Amino acid sequence: MEKILNYINGELVAPEENNWIDNYNPSNGEVYSLIPNSSEKDVEKAYQAAAAAYPSWSNTTIDERSKILSKIASLIEENLEEFVAAESKDNGKPLSLARAVDIPRASSNFQFFANAITQFASESHESVGLNAFNFTLRSAIGVVGCISPWNLPLYLFSWKIAPALAAGNTVVAKPSEVTPMTAYLLSKICNEAGLPKGVLNIVHGLGHTTGQAIVAHEKIKAISFTGGTATGAHIARTAAPMFKKLSLELGGKNPNLIFADCDYDKMLAVTLKSSFANQGQICLCGSRIYVERSIYDKFKSDFIAKVKALKVGHPSDTETNIGALVSKPHLEKVKSYIDIAEQEGGKVLTGGNYVTIDGYENGYYLKPTVIEISNPICRLTQEEIFGPVVTIMPFDTDQEALELANGVRYGLSSTIWTNNLNRTMHLAKHLEAGIVWINTWLMRDLRTPFGGMKDSGVGREGGLEALRFFTEPKNICIKY
Ligand code: NAD
Repeated sequence: MEKILNYINGELVAPEENNWIDNYNPSNGEVYSLIPNSSEKDVEKAYQAAAAAYPSWSNTTIDERSKILSKIASLIEENLEEFVAAESKDNGKPLSLARAVDIPRASSNFQFFANAITQFASESHESVGLNAFNFTLRSAIGVVGCISPWNLPLYLFSWKIAPALAAGNTVVAKPSEVTPMTAYLLSKICNEAGLPKGVLNIVHGLGHTTGQAIVAHEKIKAISFTGGTATGAHIARTAAPMFKKLSLELGGKNPNLIFADCDYDKMLAVTLKSSFANQGQICLCGSRIYVERSIYDKFKSDFIAKVKALKVGHPSDTETNIGALVSKPHLEKVKSYIDIAEQEGGKVLTGGNYVTIDGYENGYYLKPTVIEISNPICRLTQEEIFGPVVTIMPFDTDQEALELANGVRYGLSSTIWTNNLNRTMHLAKHLEAGIVWINTWLMRDLRTPFGGMKDSGVGREGGLEALRFFTEPKNICIKY
């Protein structure tokens, strides 16, 4: 069986203690490869390699760093189909989605930061009347840790690694143990791209062991983490007393506010995507749908008709809209929310069950599910389900819509469908979310700040924000 290997000091190596974890294919429930169950020893080896590589990499010219990152981007593109197939097999997402979104975006993450670092500049301030100038030196931090989740595996892994490397840091990174394959493929192309050994080290393993060893390592000076809110809180408890720089991109429970004056057909098509893309396993999915009462019944019947037409199928089937969920425990977690719908005052309007696909009977398939709710404060609207399950509910006024939208502990993204400018401006200002999409969803410009407020995280990724996170500013004051 294929063994995924750690990437340490430019070499593909087995874990020191020769411990391995099973890697499942969600489309058929079979173990198809083994993942290193790395220990503190492996993390220490990775740290040593990163520390040794740091002086040279942090002094490598911007031009050279940029060229290497561009080369990684091109190599991902050149090997697109291999990455696409691996991502789909490892995660269960439709091949078509990995081809259209995940892998091209991973390549653009490297290309984007290859370009961005050439435009990164620091500030200067003249202290007028005091005969002094200040300038801000922004230097790399040192060895940094990057930890990513399973839902958009290479996409989110590269979103951290690319800016960390561009800014001159060396990296110890851990992809999710649930979806490690494309990070492994990435490690294979880094040498080909000319990335010097030790600059990027990828250590595979479980969160509470391998991940914990990265977070708790006293010399790893910054942690960029994307994952669940509870994990983020645990990481903060470990890292904060060590005064590490922390970027935490956490869970979401995003509202989708639909007003009667919207462009209805466009809204309906995009709402289908914002509900169920990637089996609803995107932190930005609009899982709470609130609809203005005058169009509620129409929306309900049109939306349900569209949801019923979605095809749940094997990820490689070109007709498939909804592939497999990522793992058996996750499938069962999502299903458990459907099972409590009634006791929470909800009514399942469509979906609600597992799906069995011929030939892949042990795969993790679930019907896209719409639950109508009457009580806005219930577990279905307050807890992150992170699967193909949305709730719908009518509202009467803008104020009520705003209160419903903000009535959760999370604050990642939100979507508004309306053509009323005043309403748009009012809601955009008052919605408690790091991102507000108006008449669109998941439209991304990589220069914009990305991240959430409240329990959805601390800090922002994207554009110059990421480069600022991965550098330490120093004020230099010169008196003349
Ligand atoms: P998770 O928190 O279980 O795991 C994320 C990563 O952290 C994995 O690599 C895991 O191994 C590691 N980890 C777990 N425990 C750790 C510990 N004690 N120390 C260090 N590392 C540890 O999350 P998941 O189930 O992989 O991903 C789903 C979650 O990610 C959802 O909550 C989703 O909303 C969130 N997410 C957020 C964003 C965002 O940008 N805000 C993007 C995607 C996913």
